[in-house]
Amino acid sequence: MSFQHVCVLGATGSIGISTLDVIARHPERMAVYAVSGHTRMELLAQQARDSAARVVLVPDEAARSRFLAAWQGGVLPEIRVGAQALADTAADPQVTTVMAAIIGAAGLPSALAAARAGKRVLLANKEALVAAGRIFMQAVQEGGAQLMPIDSEHSAIYQCLAGELPAEPGQPVAALRRLLVTASGGPFRSRSLAELDEVTPEQACAHPNWSMGRKISVDSATMLNKGLEVIEAHWLFSVPVEQIDVVVHPQSVIHSMVEYIDGSVMAQLGQPDMRTAIAYGLGFPERLYSGVGLLDLATMGRLDFEQPDFVRFPCLRLAYDALRSSQAACVTLNAANEIAVDRFLERQIGYTQIPAVIEHCLDRLNGRASQALEALEGVLELDSETRSLALDYCRVSARI
Ligand code: NAD
Ligand code: MG
Repeated sequence: MSFQHVCVLGATGSIGISTLDVIARHPERMAVYAVSGHTRMELLAQQARDSAARVVLVPDEAARSRFLAAWQGGVLPEIRVGAQALADTAADPQVTTVMAAIIGAAGLPSALAAARAGKRVLLANKEALVAAGRIFMQAVQEGGAQLMPIDSEHSAIYQCLAGELPAEPGQPVAALRRLLVTASGGPFRSRSLAELDEVTPEQACAHPNWSMGRKISVDSATMLNKGLEVIEAHWLFSVPVEQIDVVVHPQSVIHSMVEYIDGSVMAQLGQPDMRTAIAYGLGFPERLYSGVGLLDLATMGRLDFEQPDFVRFPCLRLAYDALRSSQAACVTLNAANEIAVDRFLERQIGYTQIPAVIEHCLDRLNGRASQALEALEGVLELDSETRSLALDYCRVSARI
């Protein structure tokens, strides 16, 4: 494999930090070309210095000033400002590889630009596929990009499909019977509906197995994250919704499974550490050392499995319904959830109101379900319409 120049979008986040950790272990194979951050400019300055990034991406002039104030000396990287710079840098001819690890639909334009420019795209930003699956997969195909899933479940499925994947992305795997996407069940796996009413952001963010950003941690608690992952799997592997099942597996050791028509089931196991999936995406088709330690099954003792509960976790049902319904419903699901989670983290709405916000938006925008979303503009328009609707709803039902 030739030397990789990596643009790390969302470097200051949980996935970004793990990505820089893996890259730093392989200076003979890869280097950081650019890092982006939306907040935490001190951390970004530190990362840019440590990785000797040539370009730094910041959201606005105020952030640029904070970055400069935090800069500790050494060769100052080029600073590019604004959202357009993210997409432009992802498509920069000097970049071979893009880690798309911005959170939420905000990461869609830059991930899409990387796909169109034919990069190796390490896709952590699942919201890009949820909101614009068809557009994104088409861009991958037309741009000749190499798409590597970074979500642990999808990396697991990719690894279990090795040897069976069609040469052309977007084509189905002939011998596949179903995908078994595992879910930890999050911190509230065994809580009753009544107990969920008073849940705080701190409790929702305390995931039993994985350490992640706050938004995805709440998504894991509501299991909306698993719903997004079902939609993500549908697009990544061209699998119809009827062939994608979720199985709750509290230990998070099996990261997902693939069942073939002959009855054979392949599973990928490992520690709950995203560096495994990141190293796989960076190194493919080779395997790279990731820094992840040994998996000690004997100490663990047992692996458990159970059915997901669609009553206690209505967000999972809403996501399945959206996927069955339309692309527009998926856009609305995602945007409404982003607002609802943000409002919950700001203590403006209660935990059990998150699915209510999503359901309200899906109901109100139901008429748009048949709308064809063939271009990014249509997706972004519906996304912002949903956000306004969700914000209004949250304001009315706010607790304080
Ligand atoms: P995070 O909140 O820790 O980091 C998000 C990054 O995006 C930060 O660098 C932040 O500065 C940047 N950002 C936020 N808003 C932005 C905006 N409007 N414009 C530009 N940049 C912005 O999130 P994370 O947990 O690292 O997750 C990143 C992505 O990876 C998400 O899509 C998430 O679903 C996915 N993912 C994360 C994990 C995990 O273990 N953390 C696992 C699987 C998938
Ligand atoms: Mg995941």
